[in-house]
Amino acid sequence: MHDIIIVGAGPAGLTAAIYARRANKTALVIEKSTFGGQTTYSPQIENYPGFISMSGGEFADKLVEQVISLGADIEMETVLSVRDNGDTKTVVTDKNEYEAKAVIIAVGVKHRQTGLENENSLVGRGISYCATCDGAFYRNKTVAVLGGGNSALQEAVLLSGLCSKVYVIQNLDYLTGEARLIQKVEGAENVEVITGTVITRLIGDDGLKGLVLKKTSDGSETELEIDGLFVAIGLEPDNARFSDVAKLDDYGYFASDETCLTETRGIFAAGDCRSKTVRQITTAVADGAAAALAACRYIDR
Ligand SMILES: Cc1cc2nc3c(=O)[nH]c(=O)nc-3n(C[C@H](O)[C@H](O)[C@H](O)COP(=O)(O)OP(=O)(O)OC[C@H]3O[C@@H](n4cnc5c(N)ncnc54)[C@H](O)[C@@H]3O)c2cc1C
Repeated sequence: MHDIIIVGAGPAGLTAAIYARRANKTALVIEKSTFGGQTTYSPQIENYPGFISMSGGEFADKLVEQVISLGADIEMETVLSVRDNGDTKTVVTDKNEYEAKAVIIAVGVKHRQTGLENENSLVGRGISYCATCDGAFYRNKTVAVLGGGNSALQEAVLLSGLCSKVYVIQNLDYLTGEARLIQKVEGAENVEVITGTVITRLIGDDGLKGLVLKKTSDGSETELEIDGLFVAIGLEPDNARFSDVAKLDDYGYFASDETCLTETRGIFAAGDCRSKTVRQITTAVADGAAAALAACRYIDR
């Protein structure tokens, strides 16, 4: 029996583990793929207080080291469901079943896809959702980034240092990221921003060869030859498997209160997966702390 099981090892889940261990509770963190969560996709983090600049990988490594040094248990498994048995909860994974007094769900969000035909078959063969992970495969090649927000612009800046040419394709007539990032993108000689444009077709069967682009103003279409497309059009929740123990809002995010408590006693939701207006590392770690302390109070009640 664990005191607290934490589902997901992003900043929210790992921070929850730190606070749980410092309160002398046993904590098991279960992660399905990447310790550090989305931060590992971030080429450069420049808005986390106390650090002028650091890579997402560096941040994730430090967090994991801190969690391990405090004695939290860690398992690499996919959580399939959580059952509420009243005073105990059962966490079912692809390999095991675990019992806990409280559960913190911190599963973040997943990448939104373009929905274009061929997209899935071209993933890893020209289509990527992470420049930090895959950018090096496109050294000295021509790539495009789809999206105009912070993530897309960060990816474009990183790729501009590796690739010969980077197109940024945005459906709106303007970029929506932070002013500092827009300046960086516009200042890079090998980056070309194409606004008011959508992708209507991915060209290539065995590997991506190009895109068919459509101007939103007049519907005219052109072809663009590229070697890779980095999709950065936002993220969406992936919470359905937990909806029987934690109520979802109209957009699929967990509804929870200030302490991150869901509608089920002893089950908390923290970080990007819950209903909130700002989804950043700072807000994720804040949730992790609040959820863990509330879970400790619940256990000690
Ligand atoms: C490219 C990019 C750049 C970014 N740059 C910045 C930045 O510069 N500054 C900033 O503040 N924010 C940035 N962000 C946002 C920031 O990374 C997120 O807000 C933050 O990581 C959210 O933390 P989280 O713990 O809630 O979720 P996540 O980081 O998404 O972590 C959730 C974890 O849960 C795991 N998980 C999911 N489902 C299961 C399951 N069923 N079983 C087990 N594990 C599961 C996932 O694998 C993941 O590791 C960026 C995001 C991206 C994508």
